[in-house]
Amino acid sequence: MLLKKLCRCGTLIDAGRKYCSSCERKYQQEKAEANRYYDKNIRDKKAAAFYNSPEWETTRKYVLAKYKGLDLYAFFIEKKIAFADTVHHIEELRDNWDRRLDITNLIPLSSSNHNRIHSMYEKDKVNTQNLLFGLRERWRETYEG
Ligand SMILES: [Zn+2]
Ligand SMILES: [Zn+2]
Repeated sequence: MLLKKLCRCGTLIDAGRKYCSSCERKYQQEKAEANRYYDKNIRDKKAAAFYNSPEWETTRKYVLAKYKGLDLYAFFIEKKIAFADTVHHIEELRDNWDRRLDITNLIPLSSSNHNRIHSMYEKDKVNTQNLLFGLRERWRETYEG
């Protein structure tokens, strides 16, 4: 005799199963969602701790000083002098944790251009990143010989 039991939704299922197929699908989705939430939480905590670390503080100051406090996007693209108050990770922390203190991955920006760059990332991340790497390169060629 095949044993049957009730799923949480009331459907009759084989006793060896936990859910009917539609509840199983729902359960898997909920589990994936919970994992995503958990991962994001961990990632946010890790990022917050990083931004408060002395290593970041030192690197950030170094980058601001290296480019004379200038926003490189304003300088090369808008042909304007604007002062940087943000050091942006071209490859973001969540995409490449290993480059978090890599000088070649960091670019100084004013907060308005920082916001602009992040919205450009939403439209075309790869090309925006290439543009930013290019600005660093231009600075290096022009001012560092
Ligand atoms: Zn069910
Ligand atoms: Zn940023």
